[in-house]
Amino acid sequence: MRFVHDALPMRVVFGPGRLAELGDEVERLGLTRVVVLGTPEQEATLQRAADGLGGRAAGVFAGARQHVPVEVAGAAADRARELGADGCVVVGGGSSVGLGKAVALRHGLPVVAVPTTYAGSEMTPIWGLTEDGVKRTGRDRSVLPRSVVYDPELTVSLPVGLSVTSGLNAVAHAVEALWAPDGTPITAVMAEEGARALLSALPSIVSAPGDLEARGEALQGAWLCGAVLGATTMSLHHKLCHVLGGSFDLPHAETHAVVLPHVVAHNGPGAPAAMAALGRALGVTGDPDTVTKALAARARDLGAPTSLAALGMPADGLPRVVEQVLAAPYANPAPVTRESLTALLEAAF
Ligand code: NAD
Repeated sequence: MRFVHDALPMRVVFGPGRLAELGDEVERLGLTRVVVLGTPEQEATLQRAADGLGGRAAGVFAGARQHVPVEVAGAAADRARELGADGCVVVGGGSSVGLGKAVALRHGLPVVAVPTTYAGSEMTPIWGLTEDGVKRTGRDRSVLPRSVVYDPELTVSLPVGLSVTSGLNAVAHAVEALWAPDGTPITAVMAEEGARALLSALPSIVSAPGDLEARGEALQGAWLCGAVLGATTMSLHHKLCHVLGGSFDLPHAETHAVVLPHVVAHNGPGAPAAMAALGRALGVTGDPDTVTKALAARARDLGAPTSLAALGMPADGLPRVVEQVLAAPYANPAPVTRESLTALLEAAF
């Protein structure tokens, strides 16, 4: 076996009620005037975080939107400059963390993240910006949050449907890390445990959304799944979801939830070690067909959406997705042909 494992720094403060210690994290980094960023829907939570920071909070910017439009990033960066901010605190899901990363990219401000979904962006050096309908992404270590405060209490308000799709989005990071060309024994252990934690916690969250034990287990899963997303190169699944989200404005987590079992069905026969790990996470054997069926059944039982059509995908858009996905080659454990990709998309549709 030969591999290179290049670990990213991570500081994690974890546990119910930890939001109260956000000020300690900000102080530890020597920050005195942070701007608190997030979405308009979570403004009350942003204000609560700012109140807890006292004089260390210079202001709140509640304008984050999905896929980080450049104009929103510009407005947040302007607000940070007006306030004389020396750091960003982001509270929210991937859209909020993404906005903090955009400000970090432009002004070099350190980011402290308080994630409230399972997207996992807080663990990656990946940034994204959308301009004229085209989403550009890149990797830059300067955008990786310096500290991450995971407080399961903040995820209790995440609606059940979004908890499920966001959790399956995280499982997708783990699955692709398991068959990644640059995966290592360490990322494999993290990915398997991340997938297991989420797949075991989500049914409890569906039946009792306020179950803090389950919320904590899911958040630990999200942490591990985000960490392996940041440490490895993603393949067909993320490529497909990127094109579907970018070209047809489909919702991010829902799209991942629909597409994942179809990509597992496609790639499984070419990725026996990944299937064995995912099988263990699901409590079934590693036979690709068995793993695919168990994953699809789990998603269905959780009430996840099961078709791209239901998410608003137009049927006549499928050939465009095929063209775009075939245009840029990338590593994938099973060959991707026009025929196999068309069949996969039609099944997901
Ligand atoms: P999101 O951040 O867009 O949040 C969805 C909605 O849920 C928002 O309205 C938000 O305000 C609300 N919300 C979030 N947490 C809540 C809570 N606890 N209670 C109530 N409401 C809550 O969704 P997401 O799925 O977390 O993130 C998706 C975005 O993140 C996409 O743009 C995706 O590309 C990006 N992403 C980036 C990375 C990366 O590494 N760069 C990784 C994963 C996702």
